[in-house]
Parts: sequence; C-alpha cells; structure tokens
Amino acid sequence: MKKTLRIGSLTIGGGAPLRVESMLKTRLHDTEACLAQLQELKKEGCELVRVALPTAELKDCLRTLCERSPLPLMADIHFDPDIAVAAIEAGCPSIRINPGNMGSPQRLTGVVELARDRGVVIRIGANSGSINAEQLRLSGGDRGAALALAVSQQMEMLLSRKFYDVIVSAKSTDIAETLRANVLLNERYGDFPFHVGITESGSGLDGIVKSACGLSRLFAMGIGDTMRVSLSQPPADEVRAAYSILRALDLRQRGGKLISCPTCGRRQLDVADAVPEVREILGSLPDGYTVAVMGCEVNGPREARHAQLGIAGSPNGLVVFREGEIVARIEKGASVIEALRPYLPKKS
Ligand code: SF4
Repeated sequence: MKKTLRIGSLTIGGGAPLRVESMLKTRLHDTEACLAQLQELKKEGCELVRVALPTAELKDCLRTLCERSPLPLMADIHFDPDIAVAAIEAGCPSIRINPGNMGSPQRLTGVVELARDRGVVIRIGANSGSINAEQLRLSGGDRGAALALAVSQQMEMLLSRKFYDVIVSAKSTDIAETLRANVLLNERYGDFPFHVGITESGSGLDGIVKSACGLSRLFAMGIGDTMRVSLSQPPADEVRAAYSILRALDLRQRGGKLISCPTCGRRQLDVADAVPEVREILGSLPDGYTVAVMGCEVNGPREARHAQLGIAGSPNGLVVFREGEIVARIEKGASVIEALRPYLPKKS
C-alpha cells in the first residue's frame, strides 16, 4: 500500500491524484516577485512549488514566503545542513536534500530529527549529473542502475534513522536512464511516493514532447505521484504542459478538453484560427467536458460524436452539434464563441 504524505494541506501518494509541481524562477529575496509567480502558478493549478534556498541568511525571506504563499512550498537545499535547518525553522513544510551531502552522519541526524519534530516531508533524489564514478563502477557502467543506486544510498540514510516521510526521485535528461532508475527504485521502495520528471528537457515543443514521452511511460507502469515538466520557460508553462499531459492520458482533468480536426480540402471553417478562441473558454467549463472544433459538417459532427459539444464549418456558416447531432445552424458572420455560448455549460 502506497504511503500518503501531507505537505501543508496537500496529500501526495496513496489515493491522491497525481500532483503537479513547478519551481520558482524568481530570487527568494524578491518576495513580491515570488508571490506574483506563486499566484500565477496557483491560477494554473500548480499544487506544490519548489524554491531554491541558496543560503541560510535568506531564512527570513523564506519564512515570509511560507506565511504568505497560496501554495505549499518545498525548499531546495544543496550541501549545507545549516541551510536545511534554516528552511525547517522558517516553517517550510517540505525540503529537498541529498542526505549524502549533509556534512556528516551527525549533521544529517540533526536535520532528520528536526524534520521529524516539525512534521516536515523530505524529498531525496539524484539526477544523472550527480552519479559518481564509484556508483557507475558498481553498476557495471549502467547509468540507469547507477542513478538508482545513488538514490538508494540516500534512501537508506533516512530509513536507517527510521524516517519515513520521504518522496523518492530519480531524474535524467535521458528517458531510458530515467525509466530504468525508476523501475529499479520502484521495485525496492514502491510503498513511498515518487516524484517524476525528465530533467532539463529543454523548451518549446521538443521539451514538452520529451517530457510527455518519458512521463507517459512511467505513468503506464504505475510510477509517479507528483510530477514536474522541467522547461526553460516560465513556470506557468510547466504547469500547463503537465495538465496537458495528464489530460491526454485521462489521468486528471482540469477544465474542458479540446479536440479539433487537422482540416483538409473540405474545410469550411478556419480551425487554426478558431482553436485559440475556444481554448480561452476551456478553463470555465466542467472538468473533462469536451468541445470539438471541426472543419466541415460533412464529417465533423460524426467524427467528433464523442464530444459533448462541437462546432463545424458549413457552406452557409457554422453548425453547432451535441454528441454528433446538429442542434443549430448559424449564418455566416457569427464568431465561433458566439455560436457556442448558448450551449456552454457552467462549471459547477
Ligand atoms: S472534419 Fe471535415 S475538414 Fe476536418 S478533416 Fe474531417 S473531412 Fe476534413
């Protein structure tokens, strides 16, 4: 049975939905910029936000952010146990550390005991860049196995201290390596929640496709309780991409779904122009409600009969259809949204 963890009011693992994460790209000392980015992330449906804490001197900035943030935060710590302690003392409900980088076994114990006292969740993990030569040698040159070994070594440091509120993570820029590491870790630590993603996947179409390919294969194996689509773009883009992937896989719905035809020589509606207009209203629709935008009435309503509502071009203008049946004919001149509006349901 998968363990359920709680970060603030957010549950992860167990029966909780697959959670969507991102990371602040603003600097921690700029509180107002951080809060603005957090509000934007909340609007897009982000549920947990990682924030870099580069020095313990920024403890008060983190405290302020934790107090004012609309979303639960996870402080990202590198190498220094004093920074991990500062993050916990600042009231951060979760931290991301590499237990092997906490100075000494005694210092790690100090961090773990403080986390236990304050009910703080610890995410551990490695990425392909942090595999060392010894881990690679012990894994016979298998980089995916070396990545799993690196994470296992971290995990055992916490388990040996009887600390169990742990999220496991193994990421690579390489999909095959990420899959191999996660499969191996899941065999051993499958009762713990997993954070998944393809790290540094790039930007734009290539970055999203690479993340989608890797994540969908992990999800198909039942691996993944929280996710991030790592893009060299604003964090809100990461969240939109994450929901797009979850929606396409029918794992989570958020607002309406859009289907549209590629168009062909029968086209009576400029679908490429209409799609952005329809996309604008999806957020106001019930979760999973499907709207179709089709180029012609010859095939459109029939091809999109699984959509609850749709619009197609006709020689005289537009036709509106519900589950494949035409319910209205609109003369030329009306916009797609005007034609659809009387039939759109409200979000409950
Ligand atoms: S719905 Fe009509 S325009 Fe669109 S691809 Fe099918 S036949 Fe072509």
